[in-house]
Amino acid sequence: MAREHLLKIGVSGVRGVVGDFLTPGLALSFAQAFGTYVGRGRVVVGRDTRTSGPMLQHAVASGLLAAGCEVINVGVMPTPTIQLYIAHTGAKGGICLTASHNPPEYNALKLFNKDGFFFNQYERTELIDLYHQSSFDEAMNHEIREVRKQGATAQKIHAQRVLSFVDVDLIRSKKFRVALDSVNGAGSVMSPEFLTAQLGCELHAIAIDPTKVFPRIAEPRPDTLGDLSELVRSTGAAIGFAQDPDGDRLAVVDERGEVLDNDDVLGLVVKHVLPRFPGDVVVNLTTSSVMEDLAAANGRKVFRTAVGEANVVDMMLAVKSAIGGEGSNGGVIFPGVHYCRDSYTGMAFLLELMAQTGKSVTELVAQLPRYYRKLGRVTFEHGRLGTLMQALEEQFPGVVADRTDGLKLIWPDAWIHVRASNTEPLLRLAAEAKSAQRMEDLYAQVTQLLT
Ligand code: MG
Repeated sequence: MAREHLLKIGVSGVRGVVGDFLTPGLALSFAQAFGTYVGRGRVVVGRDTRTSGPMLQHAVASGLLAAGCEVINVGVMPTPTIQLYIAHTGAKGGICLTASHNPPEYNALKLFNKDGFFFNQYERTELIDLYHQSSFDEAMNHEIREVRKQGATAQKIHAQRVLSFVDVDLIRSKKFRVALDSVNGAGSVMSPEFLTAQLGCELHAIAIDPTKVFPRIAEPRPDTLGDLSELVRSTGAAIGFAQDPDGDRLAVVDERGEVLDNDDVLGLVVKHVLPRFPGDVVVNLTTSSVMEDLAAANGRKVFRTAVGEANVVDMMLAVKSAIGGEGSNGGVIFPGVHYCRDSYTGMAFLLELMAQTGKSVTELVAQLPRYYRKLGRVTFEHGRLGTLMQALEEQFPGVVADRTDGLKLIWPDAWIHVRASNTEPLLRLAAEAKSAQRMEDLYAQVTQLLT
């Protein structure tokens, strides 16, 4: 694997394999740069449940204290909860130690500004410059502040915000039987109470021990959620929820134990939210055309961005959208709660939708516009990306091309999207069409060309 994928210091912060690459020394320097950049004040720090979390969190706390910041330690906490809490407490910013859905040997520093948003491109560039210059603020002995532990408040604020947008009494009255798989991640500390004490569900949960390792591949996908599917079947649950290690992504299992396509999960939430809240829809280029159909049915528009939560959020802020997300990544972003991917908002809206309609998950999905989709990945040699993209474009002359993020070719009844992964040496490809045959044909053509 290319070295740059083992450690990346760049636009999204610092991410890498712990040990040879991502070290406490590096985390300390980066945190000190962060503290210098945001200025002396409160900085919220939390993490997911990776083994390297406590080590890196201590290093980050040291760096922040050295820069004269006060550290608010929220411990193991979902990323969206941390983002909300930053904004709520008027902190200068926040750092979350999580490599999200990446394997357990990875970790990363996710950086947030005072609003609890990802750093925008200007902020990121300034911070990286500061880091490389190593000209950090150094607090004198009498200026060194303390680390304060706060966690329960953050969870309460997050849950209350989500619940303020749904009919809690109605959901509670249904006493839904719900299955949960939190991958022993940060969701473990919040999801069981959220679903039972707050939403009145009968909960059957696996992997909700934050002291244990991830029992499955961290990314919640159809091929990684076999245990949750089995749990749904054996308990007769109405729905199953799966989170990723930092609790921003949500995957859903229907009452038959089948894992839903993530685009359908986002589609259900968008369909539920649009009639009740003003504004348009913002999704990434790889998200299903279902969004255009749902938006049109409500007299709204769809704005599309490059893949990446920060890109979607930037556009959502610019157009003041009602809702947004990244279908392919299992992300629901609802600004009422916060401009962040939030599995809790997704769970609450889906339970409300089930409660209001009295329909099963399968029935609800069947009502969505039908498209056929396929996502895949191929490895590629470094340096060949330009040639591959050009060959792809030449293969389909005269087709509408969007080069915002890799290459998306758009026909009236279909599209394909090919882009280099931000996190792995892979090309990600997606194809969607109104008919299964058309989708399979396009997918095969593109795969053949790329391999
Ligand atoms: Mg995540």
